[in-house]
Amino acid sequence: MITYDSDLKIFYSTLINDDKFFGGFGTRALGDGRNIDTAINFAQINIPNFKTIVIPEQIHSVNVTNFSANLIDNVERISETDGVITKDSNSVLTVITGDCVPIMFAEKKQGITGISHQGWRGSVKRMAQKMINKIIEIGGKKEDIFVAIGPSIGECCYDIEDERYYQFISEFDGYAKKIFRRHQGKLHLNLSLLNYLQIMETGIPKKNIDYFPFCTKCDKKRFFSFRRDKKVDYGEMLSFVVRS
Ligand SMILES: [Zn+2]
Repeated sequence: MITYDSDLKIFYSTLINDDKFFGGFGTRALGDGRNIDTAINFAQINIPNFKTIVIPEQIHSVNVTNFSANLIDNVERISETDGVITKDSNSVLTVITGDCVPIMFAEKKQGITGISHQGWRGSVKRMAQKMINKIIEIGGKKEDIFVAIGPSIGECCYDIEDERYYQFISEFDGYAKKIFRRHQGKLHLNLSLLNYLQIMETGIPKKNIDYFPFCTKCDKKRFFSFRRDKKVDYGEMLSFVVRS
């Protein structure tokens, strides 16, 4: 279940969070994730033993980095990557999003955490599956991997051009009926459902996946949205996951 913590101003997954794992999908109230102080302030108060904050560059790639902290810097930037996994404890993995889909991963037996950012480019190239493959590569097991899909633009607001539709359909023909709707003459794509289906395809048990149909564009009170706010008042939500 995904639920809101009004003190921390984050949504979190009850599948991920326990006495060792701590993850959250930030809201507008938490602050703009593009500002590094948002993550540092949050970690200093709420993650007392944190070693480093890990910030992938986010270039709409499907590159995944297996990170381990060098213990020199408390902020670590990783270039040309959109997904990070680690066996480290106390390394806070982050992504920022404003309409794109943030996804967090926790392999509970091996103690692996992961986080990824996928917009339409990452989704069409199966970023979520690449994350799971990478977690398995370093020793993770499917039945021990828990996944939470965070707030992103909903099908209600995500209309796409025909050209993009054909890109998706050539890769995900079997899902067409589930992920597309025609609304007022335009094609709408359900990006988070597509990511959910991709995760299911890998063989992760359904009970290990948390998914809640948010829409960042509809919900101005709680979320930033690129499509809604790109000219004024734009920010991005900070998402993070860490193991103690
Ligand atoms: Zn909407």
